[in-house]
Amino acid sequence: MGQVQGKVALVTGGAAGIGAAIATTLGREGATVVLTDLDTRRGEETAAGIRAAGGEALFLPQDVTEEERWREIIAEIDQRHGRLDVLVANAGIAIIAPITEMSLADWRKQTAVNIDGVFLSAKHGIPLMRKSGQGGSIVMISSVAGLRGSAGLAGYSATKGAVRLFSKSVALECAGARDGIRCNSIHPGIIGTEIWEKMPAGAADARRNAPIDPRVLAEAGVPTGQLGTPQDVANAVLFLASDASGYVNGSEIVVDAGMMAG
Ligand code: NAD
Repeated sequence: MGQVQGKVALVTGGAAGIGAAIATTLGREGATVVLTDLDTRRGEETAAGIRAAGGEALFLPQDVTEEERWREIIAEIDQRHGRLDVLVANAGIAIIAPITEMSLADWRKQTAVNIDGVFLSAKHGIPLMRKSGQGGSIVMISSVAGLRGSAGLAGYSATKGAVRLFSKSVALECAGARDGIRCNSIHPGIIGTEIWEKMPAGAADARRNAPIDPRVLAEAGVPTGQLGTPQDVANAVLFLASDASGYVNGSEIVVDAGMMAG
């Protein structure tokens, strides 16, 4: 029996990267997975991959910054399954720029996806979690950049720090006899995904004035010198989604091979 057998899970940004690994892992471990993303083609492919491996998965297009779409997504999950047990707020973007060169529009764009999107996930997901009366687990994907400042990624760092404390607030507000909902954050280190390639054209490391290569960053900043994989993060999400973490609430798991240990 899978570690999340019978649970209904929603994963945002589930088409690619870390979100796809999370959706696939939860599907493999017995959850019915609803994954959402801006990228319909890859979202459908990821869902089809989960089904081909014997799991249950549905893709729904979504921009996490749009509140009306959140209402529709949650209503559809309610109609299909009548419950929501696991909510993984994973969708996120990173915009790199020195503070003095960052436009207010870019600052707000990043804030909209990384903070508003996470807030809306909790606002609309929690009522359906409450409905079953059996609690649930919310996992918010922050970053090591949410634990310390990052030159060149100040706006990203600010959003990820906000996610960390928002997660703890949800944990306090929704724990206890009435809701029994747990909420925890995960702080990945340097993970090999396309997020590094998607940073705006001409983006440069504010300190080195050179394109960012995550492998170089990992070699320099990670004690093992290794780049992490989406699966490394998905494994931590699986623990938090499963009943094995039943006493873990308001906590943070750092998945960085020791980058933050020093
Ligand atoms: P990614 O770019 O590979 O995947 C992100 C997914 O989110 C994409 O499929 C994208 O289409 C989707 N997305 C973006 N904006 C969206 C929106 N408005 N609505 C819905 N979907 C949207 O990135 P990733 O590396 O897999 O990142 C996943 C999460 O992990 C992010 O929150 C990111 O900040 C965090 N993270 C990544 C790293 C890393 O090194 N890759 C490290 C720490 C934290």
